[in-house]
Amino acid sequence: MSESSKAKLIPEHVKVLILGAGPAGLSAALYVARAELEPVVLTGLQLGGQVSLTNTIENYPGFPEGVGGVELGELFQKQAERFGARVQFDSAQSVDLSTRPFKIVTDDAEYLADTLIISTGASPNLLNIPGETNLTGRGVSYCATCDGWFFKDKKVVVVGGGDSALEEGLFLTRYATSVTIIHRRDGFRAGAILQKRAQDNPKIKVIWNTAVTDVIGVEKVESIKIKNIKTNDIDSFKTDGLFIFVGHTPNTQMFANQLEMENGYIKVNHRGHTSVPGVFAAGESADSWFKQVITSAGMGAAAAMEATRFLEQETV
Ligand code: NAP
Repeated sequence: MSESSKAKLIPEHVKVLILGAGPAGLSAALYVARAELEPVVLTGLQLGGQVSLTNTIENYPGFPEGVGGVELGELFQKQAERFGARVQFDSAQSVDLSTRPFKIVTDDAEYLADTLIISTGASPNLLNIPGETNLTGRGVSYCATCDGWFFKDKKVVVVGGGDSALEEGLFLTRYATSVTIIHRRDGFRAGAILQKRAQDNPKIKVIWNTAVTDVIGVEKVESIKIKNIKTNDIDSFKTDGLFIFVGHTPNTQMFANQLEMENGYIKVNHRGHTSVPGVFAAGESADSWFKQVITSAGMGAAAAMEATRFLEQETV
């Protein structure tokens, strides 16, 4: 939409605007919708949030056999919509939290919101090494569920030592002939169950105390350079793919200087209130610690209940 046509838009006034449609945003939408406050949810670019990039979720209660990430996201959305939530495929470009109603400008519209629930989640970190960006989509990936299929009968490397690295590494063994996990320390951060599964999988090998320093390839990834952190020995390692799982950064840049933050995460109290009355935050944009589907969903529900109470108190 051009700037001139955007300027002619009449902003839509909503009681509750929710930014982000991951587990936190859609759980918030469910609660707000059931309070008959007709929430609008802006999905951002990643419909379903990070959960939709995960192959199987085994630790969300109610699904004893596990549930697909995309499927869970769709179920969350369907349930919220059943009670009247409106989910829009649109991204906020700027927010003004200096006065109420808060003003939110998106790709396609403008909103005035009496309350705002921020559930913008987090994005995968890059290694920031030569070749990484050039070869993204050509062998470098941050999502095994999305790209694993392209590595059928190929060799892949996974970087990282957390739950994501091991879970995604295990998923990649469905396709790849070998999965080499390269980790910068000599112990994983991942949980015990995943460690045991990785250890027991004959396709998985681990290289400890090692950093990936370069990605080499012209049209696609051909090899990587690795460096042993203890000995400083440098080596070349042939691989068809490099999957990077080295943590996440919260998507909160838009709120800098408007909300109190801590290490990039939005500061909230135990009830999801941010430093601006009427603005609430939930999920990974405000949680540097748990980062689970269930904790994000719980935070979303809590923020929604508080937003509802906030509006009720104003009308008394
Ligand atoms: P994480 O737990 O923060 O782990 C990141 C890993 O990347 C760590 O092993 C870290 O090494 C390594 N790392 C960080 N920066 C690096 C760099 N520049 N170069 C090389 N390695 C680097 O991130 P995550 O695995 O994405 O998990 C995030 C959260 O989601 C966690 O709370 C996790 O429990 C949760 N999660 C849960 C599940 C599940 O329960 N099924 C699945 C996925 C994620 P060090 O260990 O040396 O710091």
